[in-house]
Amino acid sequence: MHAIHYAIAPANPAAHVFAVNCRIARPDPRGQTVSMPAWIPGSYLIRNFSKHILNIRASSHGRPVALTKLDKDSWQCAPCDDELLLEYEVYAWDASVRAAQLDTTQGFFNGSSVFLRVHGQETQACSVEILPPRGRVEGRWGVATSLPRLTAGMHDFGLYQAGDYEELIDHPVQLGNFDMVDFEACGVLHQVAVTGRHRGDLQRLAADLRRICEHHIRFFGEPAPMNYYLFLLRLVGEGYGGLEHRTSCSLIASRHALPQHGLSKISDNYRELLGLCSHEYFHTWNVKRIKPAAFTPYNLQQENYTELLWAFEGITSYYDDLALLRSGLISEESYLELLARTITRVLRGKGRLRQSVADSSFYAWTKFYQQDENSPNAIVSYYAKGALVAFCLDTLIRQKTNQSASLDDVMRLLWHRYGQTGVGVPEAAVEETAAEMAGESLDEFFHQSVHDAGELPLAAMLEHYGITLRLRPAASARDAGGVIGKSRAPVQDIAGRALRVDLGATFKAEQGFPRLQVVTADGAAQRAGLSAGDLLIALDGLQTTAENLETLLERYKPGDEIEVHAFRRDELMIFEVELQAAEATTCYLEIDSDPVAAQLKARAVWLGGGR
Ligand code: ZN
Repeated sequence: MHAIHYAIAPANPAAHVFAVNCRIARPDPRGQTVSMPAWIPGSYLIRNFSKHILNIRASSHGRPVALTKLDKDSWQCAPCDDELLLEYEVYAWDASVRAAQLDTTQGFFNGSSVFLRVHGQETQACSVEILPPRGRVEGRWGVATSLPRLTAGMHDFGLYQAGDYEELIDHPVQLGNFDMVDFEACGVLHQVAVTGRHRGDLQRLAADLRRICEHHIRFFGEPAPMNYYLFLLRLVGEGYGGLEHRTSCSLIASRHALPQHGLSKISDNYRELLGLCSHEYFHTWNVKRIKPAAFTPYNLQQENYTELLWAFEGITSYYDDLALLRSGLISEESYLELLARTITRVLRGKGRLRQSVADSSFYAWTKFYQQDENSPNAIVSYYAKGALVAFCLDTLIRQKTNQSASLDDVMRLLWHRYGQTGVGVPEAAVEETAAEMAGESLDEFFHQSVHDAGELPLAAMLEHYGITLRLRPAASARDAGGVIGKSRAPVQDIAGRALRVDLGATFKAEQGFPRLQVVTADGAAQRAGLSAGDLLIALDGLQTTAENLETLLERYKPGDEIEVHAFRRDELMIFEVELQAAEATTCYLEIDSDPVAAQLKARAVWLGGGR
């Protein structure tokens, strides 16, 4: 047993309670301090995991040791010169990839939700005994985790180990009945543990993931930085999310996203799932090993500020879909549809004109991760816009070097300098490395695209590849862009004047009525005084429903004034709305029919992943 030893048991699955022990062989003689992390790396929000500790007590050889509360996350044990034992219970009923969840069907936990940090001994190796469930559970449970095994059998309960505390909390654990499928990528064993009911073709999933994983390993260069990798996939009715770890990732997806047996076509849902897997896997390099200096080491008790999330999440978002194309899983047309959807997401938010991606990164803790009804007006996503910054940067480097270098080379250089050495990436290093690769200063580009809010030079960059950026109004509330699209009503009159009108707000159906969700900054609804949360009931004296709102609006043209009846709280209010022309913020991309040779070559090299 190690000097620090944990034991965790699904003690009361029906009540969602894990029982945890932490045994410290040599506690700090002045009084040992322990704490729970306030956040989990990869998800930039203070979550105070200690709030789910139900009770905690300390003892030494059976004799109680006094515990003093220091703050919301920490305790100090009374001085004790021999082995110290902490025992506590953790309530686990969080359905996300970020915390812990336990019931009679399955259990899941991240170490950051269940394991106390022993202050001053974080760099010590530790052992963990994962115990089988107590009481009634469904089926025969196993263990799926990338946590290195000490004496436990493969996928079995027993003893595991970690080299230090940071590693301990970087291997999520899945308990229960899961389907397991294996594949090898560049000589490394990969496994996928699938929890939840499904009828999907897991062999197909494994074959497709193998191509993605091999692509990423070869992108950064063999050998892979790990000797085992695990995808933990939990299937649910509705849900989506992923979290990266050093040799695994946790994923939540719809059970309908899995490919069906006998079908070769890639559905939109399955393409999205492959994109999510690709994203988390790319993080194995970009953020888990090429890591901001601000995270080296993590401060687990408070916010860790960096302006670089646009690079760690945005560049990863750029390559996640691009790898699907480069590994031959999707077509060029399908990839351009995904890129155009990303452009659409960014263009639909007015916040892109207010916040830079550097600021979006820095304030992730309070803004991106704590969004409200005004967020689309106030902030920009460092994921979506970051991916577009990556696309522009990639293109710029290709242009400046006559196709002899690219963002791919920047990533490999960052891997070589920071990932392989374990040195944190300083805040200026991504820009400096890119400029080095381009052979000249890119300060102007970074100033405009990263440090300032505003538009990116997307049309000019796409032209480099013989691709034209087209914009049109959304055809409906469900229109995500990416394709030419068919609108039910004409978009322009015969003189080319815009016909489609817009309220300047999004809504969601509530008991059949449209409730405003986001009121666009300076749009028609906002100018008329309508507010997020207002429940629309009539337009020009006609009852409006979530169903007929778009049809009612089709009768008007831009500039028309209409009377809107709406409830705010329980008060009926009347607004005069001057309808605006629907904004052309929905993007699709067209490949030019007669590109010049240089454009053809640039496109082939870019999409093919060569130089
Ligand atoms: Zn990510």
